[in-house]
Amino acid sequence: MGQYNFELDKVKARILQDKAKRVLVQLPEGLKSEFPGISTALEDTGAMLILQSDPCYGACDIKTGYDLTVHFGHNEFIKTNDNVLYIPCHYQSRIDELLEKALPVLKGQKIGILTTSQHIHQLNEVQEFLKNRGKVPVLSRGKQRENFANGDIMRATASGQVLGCDVSAAIEIQEQVDSFLFIGSGKFHSLGIENWAKKPVIQANPYSGEVEELESGAWEKEKYLRISKAFNAKSFGIIISTKPGQRLMATAERVKEKLPNSALIELEHVSPQVIEYLPYDAFVITACPRIVIDDWKNYKKPILLPDEALKALQA
Ligand code: SF4
Repeated sequence: MGQYNFELDKVKARILQDKAKRVLVQLPEGLKSEFPGISTALEDTGAMLILQSDPCYGACDIKTGYDLTVHFGHNEFIKTNDNVLYIPCHYQSRIDELLEKALPVLKGQKIGILTTSQHIHQLNEVQEFLKNRGKVPVLSRGKQRENFANGDIMRATASGQVLGCDVSAAIEIQEQVDSFLFIGSGKFHSLGIENWAKKPVIQANPYSGEVEELESGAWEKEKYLRISKAFNAKSFGIIISTKPGQRLMATAERVKEKLPNSALIELEHVSPQVIEYLPYDAFVITACPRIVIDDWKNYKKPILLPDEALKALQA
């Protein structure tokens, strides 16, 4: 099971405690290949395991309907009345060399520390390291909370944790820090931190061992390109997700009220193929912001975030 901690003893204990006969297993795309090993390790519980094989990018996308759902790869995001066990799959690797490499790139003395659920358990080590090198580590829990008819959406729940849709742990401390150290991979989270918290972001990637400072204004540049692509659109489809933690109905209705010639469209999986055949010129995605931020170039038709559509198109 490589470098991730699947906490199978905890899973086993929960299955036995709940006397669960049918257990649904959710894994992120990169960890689905671990299902055979997980099944073998849990065989002696006597439970029947079912792999939920639809794409799953976050705990916003909980599937239920069995005695127990074991959701690997993320922290709890949405309160449901269903039986769900969250296993964040902490990444087991040393980061001391990575921190040494990041040290000369950090700006100033007060450093905001941020990461994703896979590396949360390493934040104590990061704090100690920075203190020993004369820096002042600053950490905060995000404050984004929303109540929806279908549950209480909590978003990032751990101290220092950010999600692509919740960088409030960075916003909370933006006035107190000189720069941010983000431990994680990809550009989705770091772009959001840079855009909303307006301080230099130094990204240290535990998988590649690379350290880089994010280009200032990177989000704004991409946003401008997205908006200019939508300038000539005469009609808009407003996408509402069916995933429980991505179903922002109130946002979709707010956009619909202000955007002339628009229609509400419900979808589970937003993809270039589906969007291409819908009879609208451009789309506002109220589901996961990753669809727009990471993938907009893969769509022939323009796709925008809700606020971009409202502000930029002056609705
Ligand atoms: S960023 Fe997207 S996938 Fe991640 S928790 Fe938020 S809505 Fe879900």
